[in-house]
Amino acid sequence: MPDLSAEKQQLENEPGVSGIRENVPLADLTTFKIGGPADLFFEARNADDLAAGVRAARRIGIPFFLLGLGANILIGDLGIRGLVIQNKATHWKLDHEKKRLHCETGAVVWPDLINHLVDAGLSGMEHFAGIPSTLGGGLWQNLHFLSPAPERNRTVFLSEIFRSAEILTPSDERKTVDRDYFEFGYDTSILHRSGDIALSATFQLQYCDPDKMREIIDANLAWRAERHPPLSTEPSAGSIFKKIEGIGAGRLIDECGLKGARMGGIEITHRHANIMINRGGGTARDVCLMIERVKETVRNKTGYKLETEIAFVGEFE
Ligand SMILES: Cc1cc2nc3c(=O)[nH]c(=O)nc-3n(C[C@H](O)[C@H](O)[C@H](O)COP(=O)(O)OP(=O)(O)OC[C@H]3O[C@@H](n4cnc5c(N)ncnc54)[C@H](O)[C@@H]3O)c2cc1C
Repeated sequence: MPDLSAEKQQLENEPGVSGIRENVPLADLTTFKIGGPADLFFEARNADDLAAGVRAARRIGIPFFLLGLGANILIGDLGIRGLVIQNKATHWKLDHEKKRLHCETGAVVWPDLINHLVDAGLSGMEHFAGIPSTLGGGLWQNLHFLSPAPERNRTVFLSEIFRSAEILTPSDERKTVDRDYFEFGYDTSILHRSGDIALSATFQLQYCDPDKMREIIDANLAWRAERHPPLSTEPSAGSIFKKIEGIGAGRLIDECGLKGARMGGIEITHRHANIMINRGGGTARDVCLMIERVKETVRNKTGYKLETEIAFVGEFE
């Protein structure tokens, strides 16, 4: 194991940074329960901590990775070199008069935040009930779900209620930017390309009858329970492959007969062919081998080229 005490000390000498830990296991900090350790680890408890951690890593020249709930990533079995900053900046407040939510980006969308908004009669976030996500991860990927039952005829995006965000730019400037800046798309935003860190965000909500919102939430949770494996017993990273417009990656994988296929501790769940679950002891290597098998089979049998949706982070064997 490398001696990281010098880097740890350097980080802790930077303003606003303390409590750096070494060699911290990360698997349990992801929904897939996979991945090796972080060389160095810092828990950011508010937006100032988050900015301080990122600035410190940049100034010293240590690579860093910002971790939300770990619901859309695969961490390599050898772990992450440099510093992992876990975003636990969860403060938020409501402006009832303007119907706005001001929120740090480590706040977790479901259940506490959404339930509080429902109690306050403020609508906009309830569509994302049941999805594991921090607001930062949600902005990175433009969190989305189907519009309410019974229609379910369009996709509702987090960007629809997004108003502005405070970001830390790659040149360490803190500034407020609007929706245009974010260049939101399907499963994407400027955060994929710019190196900006979202520190906090403001969302524009609307008044709505709490009972109506609870109906939407109940229907969405029932939809998920039917189609998605429960995270508590069948850890996953949600959909592995990007949507193919009009066809669906899951349908192609299903048509190739791959539901139930196993690779080490990883299995393609019978509930949804685009989701792989960790049956226990599953490794990043197993996931990567399974991804290659699925891509090759689908390409050979259907001609379609699947692309992965999840982010691959750290060192792989
Ligand atoms: C069971 C299950 C169901 C899911 N269902 C859906 C669904 O219905 N709809 C949907 O859209 N997604 C879904 N997902 C995917 C996942 O929930 C989302 O992508 C979510 O937004 C990831 O958030 P996170 O906090 O876990 O981000 P992480 O996985 O921790 O991070 C993802 C990326 O975002 C970056 N990031 C995080 N915070 C910030 C920040 N503040 N500033 C800059 N970059 C940041 C990270 O560095 C990383 O590159 C599902 C996942 C699971 C496991």
